[in-house]
Amino acid sequence: MKYNIDSRGYYGKFGGAYIPEMLYPNVEELRENYLTVMEDPSFQKEFNSLLKDYVGRPSPLYFASRLSAKYETQIYLKREDLNHTGAHKINNTIGQILMAERLGKKRIIAETGAGQHGVATATVCALKGLECVVYMGEIDIERQAPNVARMKMLGATVIPARSGSKTLKDATNEAIRDWINNPIDTHYIIGSVVGPHPYPDMVAKFQSVVSAEIKSQLLTQTGKDAPDYVVACVGGGSNAAGAYYHYLENTDVKLIAVEAAGYGVNSGESAATSVLGKEGIIHGSKTLLMQTDDGQITEPYSISAGLDYPGIGPMHAHLFDTGRAEFVAITDNDAMNAGLELCKLEGIIPAIESAHALAIFEKKCFGKDEVVVLSLSGRGDKDLATYISHFNLI
Ligand SMILES: *Cc1c(COP(=O)(O)O)cnc(C)c1O
Repeated sequence: MKYNIDSRGYYGKFGGAYIPEMLYPNVEELRENYLTVMEDPSFQKEFNSLLKDYVGRPSPLYFASRLSAKYETQIYLKREDLNHTGAHKINNTIGQILMAERLGKKRIIAETGAGQHGVATATVCALKGLECVVYMGEIDIERQAPNVARMKMLGATVIPARSGSKTLKDATNEAIRDWINNPIDTHYIIGSVVGPHPYPDMVAKFQSVVSAEIKSQLLTQTGKDAPDYVVACVGGGSNAAGAYYHYLENTDVKLIAVEAAGYGVNSGESAATSVLGKEGIIHGSKTLLMQTDDGQITEPYSISAGLDYPGIGPMHAHLFDTGRAEFVAITDNDAMNAGLELCKLEGIIPAIESAHALAIFEKKCFGKDEVVVLSLSGRGDKDLATYISHFNLI
C-alpha cells in the first residue's frame, strides 16, 4: 500500500484536478513546473534560509513533562505555535511566494475563512513586495475584525464575498473567478492540502519540514527517530500532512487525525468530515466532504474557525479510507477543556484547533513508555475572545 501521491496526482482514489476548462492553463502551468522549481538548489537555499531567519525554524520539539505525568505516557509537542505569525501556515505561504516569484507572477490572491491564511499570505506578500488580494466572506469579515486589520496593515486588499452563505466557500469561489480572469500574472495561494493537483502535494511538501525536524529532534532526544504515534488536528489537513509526511510509509508509526465534532457528530452542528462526509468533489479535488443527498455542500460548524471546513484534503481521505490513520472527533467542550489544561500544566496557551488534538489524551490511553508526538499547530492569542466567553474569564 502506498500512502503518498502517485504520478497522476491521486492518493488512492482521491485527489486529481476537477477544474473548469478556463482554469486549466493556470493549474497546468503549476503542475508542469512545481517539482522542478522546488528541487532547484537556489529555491531550496532561499526557502530554508527564510524558514530559519524569518519564520524561526526549527521549531522546538518540547517534552511536556507535566502533561506526560498526568496521562502516564511520553508526550512531545511540536511547537509550530512559536513560528512567526503564530502557526504552521507560514511554512506553506513562504514556499508558495517563492514558487510564484519563480513563475514570474506579480500578483497574489488567496481566500481566507477565519483570516489566518489571509494574514500568512499578506505577510509573505509584504516580505516580497507583491500585490496581495484576499477574498473573505462578508460574515467572516465581521467575525474576524482583528485579522482583517492585520491584513490591511500588511498592505493587502481584502475583498468581501457577498454571495451564498458569505463564508469560506464563497470566498473560494470569488478567488477562483479572479484567477480565471487573471491567468497570466496571478498566483493563487491555497492555504491547506486541498484544491486541484498539484496543490495538495505542493502544500504537503512545503509542510513536510515539520516531520523532517521531528525525526532529527526525536533522534537527539530519545535515540530513536520514530515515535509510536503522531497526533494532529485536521481542518483541510496541512499541519497533519506536515507532521505525518516522513512517517507515511512507516506503518510502525500510528497516525491519529483529530477532527472537530462541534456540538457532537450527530448534532447537525459539526465538522467531522470523516464520519459525516461522502465521496464528492470540492475545490477541484475528489475527496470526502459533507454534503446533502443531492450533493449540496453542508455548512460545517466548529468553535474553532480553522477546523470548520466541509471537506478534508485527498491525502487524509485516503488515510481514512485505508485505515492508515485513526480518525477521532472531538467536541467544542472537550477541546476547550484540553486547551485550558495545557495552559495550567505547561504554561502554553494553544490555538483552539490544536486544543482539539490535545483532547485525544482524555479519549485514548497510551502506554507509559510510548512516545506520542503532537502537532501544536498554533498559539491561542487569536482565540482569546473565545476562551474568555467560554470560561467566563472576565
Ligand atoms: C488553519 C489552522 C489549522 C487547520 O488547518 P490544517 O490545514 O488542517 O492544518 C489548524 N491549526 C491552526 C493553528 C490553524 O491556524
